[in-house]
Amino acid sequence: MSGMKSDVLVIGGGTAACAAAEAVLQAGKQVTMVFPNGGSSEVSAGSVDILGVVPGEEPRICGDYREGIRALLERYPDHVYGKCGGELDTGVQALVSLAEAGGYRLKGFDGKNVWIPNMLGTFSVNALVPEMLAGGALVPGEEKKVLVIGVKGNAAFNAEAAAMSYQQYQKKLGGKADYFSAEIRLTGWGDRRKVSDGELADYLDTREGAQELISAVRTFCGNGKYHFDTILFPPVLGYVKYQELLAEIKAACGCDAAEVQALGNSVVGYRFTRALYRALETRGAVLLRGAKAESISPAENGIDAVCTIGLTDQLHPGEKMTIHASSAVLATGGFVGGGIKARRTEVWIELLEEKLGGITTEVLDRNALSRSGQDFMRMGAEVKDDLSVKNETYNGRLFACGDVLAGHNSASERSGAGIAAASAYLAGKNAAANI
Ligand SMILES: Cc1cc2nc3c(=O)[nH]c(=O)nc-3n(C[C@H](O)[C@H](O)[C@H](O)COP(=O)(O)OP(=O)(O)OC[C@H]3O[C@@H](n4cnc5c(N)ncnc54)[C@H](O)[C@@H]3O)c2cc1C
Repeated sequence: MSGMKSDVLVIGGGTAACAAAEAVLQAGKQVTMVFPNGGSSEVSAGSVDILGVVPGEEPRICGDYREGIRALLERYPDHVYGKCGGELDTGVQALVSLAEAGGYRLKGFDGKNVWIPNMLGTFSVNALVPEMLAGGALVPGEEKKVLVIGVKGNAAFNAEAAAMSYQQYQKKLGGKADYFSAEIRLTGWGDRRKVSDGELADYLDTREGAQELISAVRTFCGNGKYHFDTILFPPVLGYVKYQELLAEIKAACGCDAAEVQALGNSVVGYRFTRALYRALETRGAVLLRGAKAESISPAENGIDAVCTIGLTDQLHPGEKMTIHASSAVLATGGFVGGGIKARRTEVWIELLEEKLGGITTEVLDRNALSRSGQDFMRMGAEVKDDLSVKNETYNGRLFACGDVLAGHNSASERSGAGIAAASAYLAGKNAAANI
């Protein structure tokens, strides 16, 4: 079995892992990341939610996420933000700068949450959004004409239904826009009747695709005869050249333009995670992609991880390697990312070999969309105040962050990337200080 060494090993490749690796680099230490894929970060909408809702019988929607965090901690004193909220600004800033260095620009709104139209035809509450979405943010009281574009064959987004729904839904939020819709026809995939988001994004990355889209939209607008203030598109404007295409659309149509928010369509999460990876590699992090930690164990002066590398390598598939690190960060995600496993009623954290008990009626609400959020989603790794795992086996050298942590429910709180950034920054900083 081959081997390698690193100051800090980060296990995972999602938002938390990237923020932890950045904190280690900022502390001047070497970092190696090992992961099979981008986990839930790779299918996320690529926004940074900090806190959108305080769940409860009467859920409270937060205009101001800092006030929201104070209310959340009153209701849930053991919440993860109680341990890592002090690193919220630093962690989010580190994540935002990293994404930007990789070419993915995020925009905040003076510390407030905003409402962003999504693919479902409703509005999502976010703290920071990719620049691609910013132009669609709802501004209460603003009267404007918004055109929602759909692409024939792309069944994931029904522009007509979405526009009708935005028109109604915005009223709850003080919106006064008029939404119109149009379905344009593109020809890049020949006679096929259906096209996926990924195929569309690939096509729009080509010069031919970009020009065909712009020309179809301009034709619909009567080449400038019918004016809209904003044009909304499905979140498929390319995997790579999306920012250039949006700028071109704005110039060609003489108005603002934006994508609507994705709901797990792969294109946006891919842009986000690949930008983070690019920036980390430029800064000197070692990324073992297509790899997996199979087990971790305490070792002299650190931690050993047995990993399988080359999971996607056809020549050397599944080779084993031991990585020795002075300390490690567990950023393996929750139920979606793969860090927390469930079979029948049993739930456990795989790499810690730690059982979290069962999913019983006490943690399961019959109402799947319970306003308080499903309690089983709060299951996860227990950590001390410095985010080292409580499990004493690892002598304080193993830290945990992000969705694998116990004590939060990012789905019902709309807090995913905020918690990932804050907890990972603290975990990475403490892991680096431990060397
Ligand atoms: C559809 C969807 C949309 C979302 N949209 C948003 C949004 O717009 N904004 C927001 O803030 N939050 C969003 N969230 C929530 C957010 O994605 C998560 O809270 C956040 O990504 C968690 O980051 P993480 O790094 O802890 O976990 P993950 O992103 O899940 O990453 C876990 C990582 O660990 C790796 N891993 C697992 N097991 C192993 C192992 N044994 N060895 C090595 N690596 C391993 C995985 O491959 C992955 O790289 C969304 C979630 C979903 C499901």
